[in-house]
Parts: sequence; C-alpha cells; structure tokens
Amino acid sequence: MKLILLGPPGAGKGTQAVRISERYGIPQLSTGDMLRAAVAAETPVGLAAKDIMARGELVPDDVVVQIISDRIDQPDCKNGFILDGFPRTVAQAEALEGLLKSKNMQLDSVVELAVDDAILIERIEKRAKETVGGPRADDNAEALKKRLDVYHAQTTPLISHYSGKEILRSVDGMSEIDRVTSDIISVLESA
Ligand code: ADP
Repeated sequence: MKLILLGPPGAGKGTQAVRISERYGIPQLSTGDMLRAAVAAETPVGLAAKDIMARGELVPDDVVVQIISDRIDQPDCKNGFILDGFPRTVAQAEALEGLLKSKNMQLDSVVELAVDDAILIERIEKRAKETVGGPRADDNAEALKKRLDVYHAQTTPLISHYSGKEILRSVDGMSEIDRVTSDIISVLESA
C-alpha cells in the first residue's frame, strides 16, 4: 500500500503514520524527520536546510524530491510506504507522480487529516513544552505561524489536486487518537 498522509503541522500525521506503519508493515517516510537528521548530521543538505526550517519555510522542491526518490529505492519500500510531510506543494506532487511512474509504482490513497487552526496552535504549543531535550527549532510562535501560512498557501491546493484524481479521503483529525487511527484504517480498507 502506497499512501500519503496530508494535513497541517500538528495534525497528528507523525503519530498516525507510526500506527499505520505498524499495522501494514510498511515504512513511514517523513521528510521532516529525514531533514532534521540531515541537519543534526551536518550534511550538505542539512546545512542548506537548517535556517529555512527554523523559519518555518519550505526547503526547495528538488531537495525533498531527491530525498524521497532515494528513500523509495530502498528495499523496505517494495511493498509500500506512508509519505508523511511530502508532497507539500503541487510541484512536489507532480514530481512524485513522475517518479512513481518511472519506478512502476502507483499511489493508492491520499488521506487528509482535517484539524482547525486554533487546535493546531494549542497542540504545537503543548508539544513544544513537553518535548524531552527541548522544543524543535521551529516550534515557536513565529515559525509556527509561518508554517500554518505556508500550509494554507502552498499545501492546501493539493487537496483539490488529489480530489480531482479521486484518491482523496478525509478523516476528522480532531477526534481522539485511537478513533483517528480506526477512521484512517476504515477509509483505507474501503478504498
Ligand atoms: P510539521 O508538519 O509539524 O510542520 P515536519 O516535520 O513535517 O513538520 O516539517 C518540518 C519542516 O521541514 C518544514 O517546516 C519544512 O521546512 C521542512 N520540510 C519537511 N517536509 C518538506 C517538504 N516536503 N518540502 C519542503 N520542506 C519540507
């Protein structure tokens, strides 16, 4: 199964991706996690991405597309994967389509986790306070506002992009965590 989890920062994509990954035995591919690892390891990609991420802006499309392309080539992705945090722009979605086609793969579902902005802000502020080892560089009020603005401007167009392709399913991300998981599983299994 190849799927995309789509939703704003703080929607719970990471939490749900871990659960879906365990259930179906497919890896979670989080561009945010991969980029944070690159920043920590001070690789060339990480050095270029560090300040962009701290501001809450998007890393250039070609950078994340390359990261995902390389990752999908790993043997553990053969039976499927969950894309978490990618694609985030229509250009990334189009690049992904070309990429999958060239690898003879096809996307099965795009699951949107819908959460209101007021709740997102509350959740991220809470996460910033509770994170062991200190908050993420982008979990502060200014970067958070930027991430939400970027999401609305650049990522929400993906919702109509995928609903036009009839693979979009929407799940209420404001229900409690277990309910969100079971709702995702039921939309995946009825797809
Ligand atoms: P969140 O969804 O909570 O904002 P992520 O961990 O998905 O967090 O992403 C953190 C940051 O990493 C983003 O604000 C952006 O700078 C960068 N990033 C992650 N994925 C992408 C992507 N697909 N395209 C561009 N930048 C990305």
